[in-house]
Amino acid sequence: MTSTLQSRTSWEDLRSDFPILGQKVHGHPLIYLDNAATSQKPRAVLDCLNHYYERDNSNVHRGLHELSNRATEAYENARKRLAAYLGASADEIIFTRGTTEAVNLVARTWGEANIGPGDVILLTEMEHHSNLVPWQLLAKRQGATLRFVPVTPDGRLDLEGFDRLLDGPVKLFSFVHISNTLGTINPARELCARARAAGVATMVDAAQSAGHLPLDVREIGADFLALSGHKMCGPTGIGILHGRRDILQDMEPFHGGGEMIASVGFTESDFKPAPYRFEAGTPAIAEAIGLGAAADYVDAAGRDRIFTHDQALALQAIALLEEIPGVRILGPRDVRGGLVSFVLASAHAHDVVSMADQYGLALRGGHHCTQPLMRKLGVPAAARASFYFYNTPAEVEQFAAIIRRIHTFFA
Ligand code: PLP
Repeated sequence: MTSTLQSRTSWEDLRSDFPILGQKVHGHPLIYLDNAATSQKPRAVLDCLNHYYERDNSNVHRGLHELSNRATEAYENARKRLAAYLGASADEIIFTRGTTEAVNLVARTWGEANIGPGDVILLTEMEHHSNLVPWQLLAKRQGATLRFVPVTPDGRLDLEGFDRLLDGPVKLFSFVHISNTLGTINPARELCARARAAGVATMVDAAQSAGHLPLDVREIGADFLALSGHKMCGPTGIGILHGRRDILQDMEPFHGGGEMIASVGFTESDFKPAPYRFEAGTPAIAEAIGLGAAADYVDAAGRDRIFTHDQALALQAIALLEEIPGVRILGPRDVRGGLVSFVLASAHAHDVVSMADQYGLALRGGHHCTQPLMRKLGVPAAARASFYFYNTPAEVEQFAAIIRRIHTFFA
């Protein structure tokens, strides 16, 4: 597939791989700008899912027949593919349902073993609820405390006091790589290095970065990293937890059940090594294989190029939105991920998004699962346009024209 893609690398050609984008919504051509919520799927991923169900569908790791062997091989190849995608080893790749489950897995296993009364879990004020609520639950269970790296008014992490925050009984620093609300790109490598120097473990929420820029877990240097397949052209219900091998091997299981055991007695069991001890029950086999196809697709399109393209669309959107009187853009103006959250003085975000839908424009509106951040910014709700490589500058112009029309309607 890589060679086919490389011979047709224009964005227009790539866009034509996404059947869903060709439709009309409410009589208008669909402009899909809700990619931070979930991305669309190329034909290569859809065909991969179909192929699996039409030819190979079987359970993995337990069969002694041809179909089961094929399914197992495809599932384990997907693990290897995702390892290569992240610069990791296959035994460090745990399939989860997504970023949320990956964070919960770490909180339940590593967290319960390593975080106790009086310890501190350091987060940032820009975390998605997925990288906040699991730590709140853990802190409550263990008698630990949460602390937060502040966010500046222009939407960056205030790193001035960072080393001081790392001081004391801090056991873990978990942070978002690209904020789904602000678009801020946090300096993951530097943050992990500073945390490591202070003896603090690290976790990176790469939900918004994994499909949009090159990621190398060794270079970033985090102990854990989580991503969601559906945000990088893959199916829903599948994601990755990457963990350093030496840490994973010492961790207790997350869920108990079939597949994760070495041997079971009536009162006690032994478990397989990582990553299998963390994958209890029948896994999301087709979805994992589909995620492998998505990784192929995104890599063939080129993550460097995708980042440049998405960022250019975001900056174009900001420039056009700023021509609208009373518009407020959340987050940094220069370097950012491919998304823009904004507030119109004239209309509530829900009205903006509902009205945009009537023009076939798919946006997101609300608190974007970052309620504490939105409260801090004094913004009850924002509309968000989020871009991917199949979006075009012409779509951004149409988006801005629609938002201007909505502003005029409500002003
Ligand atoms: N973290 C960030 C930054 C996100 O944007 C999201 C989803 O929007 C998540 C975590 C949670 O991802 P999932 O719902 O796929 O588990």
